Amino acid sequence: MAAALKFGISGLRGIAGESLTDDVVQKHVDAFIGVLEPKKVILGRDTRGSGPHIREVVIERLREHGCEIIDIGIVATPTVQFMTRHMGADGSIAVTASHNPPEYNGLKFFDSQGLYLNEMQVSEMKDRMEQGTLPEGGKKEDSLLTQLDVANEAHVERVMNHIDFKVIQNSGLKVVIDPVGGAGTMADPILMRELGIDATIIHGEPSAEFPRGTEPLPENLKILGEAVKKHGADVGFAQDPDADRLALVDENGNAIGEEYTLAFCTDYMLSKQDNPKGMEIATNLSTSRMMDDVANKHGANLIRTKIGEMHVANAIMETDALIGGEGNGGVIWPVVGFGRDSFAGMSIILEYMATSGKKISELVATLPKYEIVRTKVEIASLNEVPAILDRVKEVYKDQEMDTTEGVKVIFDNGWLHARASNTEPIVRFFAEGPTREQAQAWIDKVL
Ligand code: MG
Repeated sequence: MAAALKFGISGLRGIAGESLTDDVVQKHVDAFIGVLEPKKVILGRDTRGSGPHIREVVIERLREHGCEIIDIGIVATPTVQFMTRHMGADGSIAVTASHNPPEYNGLKFFDSQGLYLNEMQVSEMKDRMEQGTLPEGGKKEDSLLTQLDVANEAHVERVMNHIDFKVIQNSGLKVVIDPVGGAGTMADPILMRELGIDATIIHGEPSAEFPRGTEPLPENLKILGEAVKKHGADVGFAQDPDADRLALVDENGNAIGEEYTLAFCTDYMLSKQDNPKGMEIATNLSTSRMMDDVANKHGANLIRTKIGEMHVANAIMETDALIGGEGNGGVIWPVVGFGRDSFAGMSIILEYMATSGKKISELVATLPKYEIVRTKVEIASLNEVPAILDRVKEVYKDQEMDTTEGVKVIFDNGWLHARASNTEPIVRFFAEGPTREQAQAWIDKVL
C-alpha cells in the first residue's frame, strides 16, 4: 500500500510516482503560485533518483505561470533558503523529502525570506486545491529559466563571512563527514577547503540510493563512528539527505545524539557576546532542557515555540534572536539564513572546538546529562485529543505548564510534552529527565 501523501507546514511528501504523482506536484505548485504570486523563484533539489523528473514538472508549471526561474541544481535545503534572500527572489521550492528514504520525494515551499510558508498560507494552498481556485497558466512566453551553478559557493562564502576561520585553519582539527550521498556532498568539500580543514568525506558521492539510514540518528552512524576512529579524527559530522540537520560523533566514534548540536552552538555563540544577558534565543517546546541550562548560564532569554521549523524561524526573525533551532540537529543562524543549516552548524562547532581546545566528549561533559523518551499513542480520531490532553492537565495539575501547543508539564528536573500530530491520528508524548526511567515514569502516569 502506498504511503499517504502528507502536506503541512513542513511541505509536501509522498512516494514518487505513487502518492506523489505529476498531477499532485502540479497542483501544489499552482497553489503556491496562487498564494505567493512570485515573479522570481529559486529552485533546487537533493540527490534522489526521482529529482530530475520532478524538477522538470515543477519548471513546466512555473513557466506556465510566467515566472523567472533560477535553477540552482543539487543543493542543500538551507542553500535554497539562503539563495532566496541573497538573490532577492519572491519565493523558492526545494525538491526533497528531507530525511525520508530514497523512494520518497516532495516539495518544500519558502517565501521571499527563505521561511517555510506559515499556517495561513498552507491552509490557503489547501483551500485553493480543494476548491479548484488555482491560477490559470498560459504565460509561458513571459517566463525565463536560468541555470546557476555557484549557489553552494555563495552559501559557503556567507558562512565564512561570519566565522573566525583563522582559528579553525590553525587548529589542525581532523574531521570526517557523512552526508549520506545527499545534497551535502556538494557543499561539504567547499566548506572544508575554505575552513582549511583536512576532511575525510564518506558516502561523499551524490547518490540516489542513500547508503545508510537517512536520519542522522545514532543507530545510522556506526560507519561514521568507525571512520572517525580509523582516521584518528576529532569529530564526525552526519547530515540528512537535504543537509538541514547535523549530528555529531565524538573522537571515540560515539554518536552523542542530535540534541547536543544546537546546545553546543548556542552555548558557544552566547559565550562570544560581550553582554549576552537578555539576548533572545529560540527553540521548540520539545527540544532538550540543555537549552534552558545554556540560557540560564548566560542570562539569555529562551523562547519556546510550537513544533516546526517555521515557528522557530519566525520567532528568531521577530525577536532578532542571536541563534536558535531544533533539537533534531537543526541550527538556525540568522546572519546566514532562516533555515536549519548543517554548514553553519559544522562551522560553529569547529570554531568552538578550536577556541576551547576541548574534545567533543569534553564538551558533552560541560552540560547536564538528560535522557529523552518518545512515545506515540494511536487514536481513532482527532476528536479524542482534548480528552487526552485534559487528562495530562488533571494528573499534573500542581505543576507548571505551557499550553502553547498541546500540554507541556515542567518539572524541576525535566518535562513532559503531549501534543497531537499535525498529519496523523496520533498523540505524541515526549519526556526528558535525569534518567530514562524518570522520563518514562512521567509518561506512564498519564497513559
Ligand atoms: Mg532534512
